[in-house]
Amino acid sequence: MQKRLEKIQQRIGQAAEACGRHPDDVRLVAVSKTMPKEMLTQAVEAGVDTLGENYVQEAREKFNQLYTLPVAWHFIGHLQSNKAKYVVKIFDLIHSVDSLKLAREINKQAKKIDKIQEILVQVNISQEDSKSGTHVENTVDTIRDISNLENVAVKGLMTMPPFFNAPEKVQPFFKALRELRDKVDAENIPNVSMHELSMGMTGDFEVAIQEGATLVRIGTAIFGERN
Ligand SMILES: *Cc1c(COP(=O)(O)O)cnc(C)c1O
Repeated sequence: MQKRLEKIQQRIGQAAEACGRHPDDVRLVAVSKTMPKEMLTQAVEAGVDTLGENYVQEAREKFNQLYTLPVAWHFIGHLQSNKAKYVVKIFDLIHSVDSLKLAREINKQAKKIDKIQEILVQVNISQEDSKSGTHVENTVDTIRDISNLENVAVKGLMTMPPFFNAPEKVQPFFKALRELRDKVDAENIPNVSMHELSMGMTGDFEVAIQEGATLVRIGTAIFGERN
């Protein structure tokens, strides 16, 4: 684990420097879905400071046992509104908010526990029907609506491109997300930050960094293949 993690940190640093960015501007989210809690503990001991989980029930079980770990928890999976209450209690950042309806429910649950929930808006950048995320052309309006919710703070955008593990094919989608980020940013919407760009996984994080990723979500390269 330690060796794999060092290798990934090194590759992140090199990819950042190769395009004139500071390595500290790219944060590693170690994606621990399906991995047993012992491996999460090991990862944190090896230096991971952010864990990414996809499934609500699995994350609740892990968090109940690991809540004392000095680590940030990020939710990166598809989220249904009726599960928002659990996610708001656990996670520091929700990457996968894809509708105003979901944001409203998160806001309601966050208000109950007096929290400002930080979120990213997930964009369906490849415009495939099978993918979650806001439509590109609705993104500005959706973010404008979300910005009125008092207990939600938008911090940037996230995407899941098609063609996993084919860096040259996904690069245009990463570029498109960055351009959309710049467009939203130029709107200067109150209470909205467009600092974060969550994109890039094991097979393509280097090109994502080249296109401006601030959060890379890496599972397999750290924890090994999932069953
Ligand atoms: C599983 C997953 C990842 C990590 O994928 P790897 O290829 O194992 O690095 C990243 N983001 C999301 C949303 C995922 O579901």
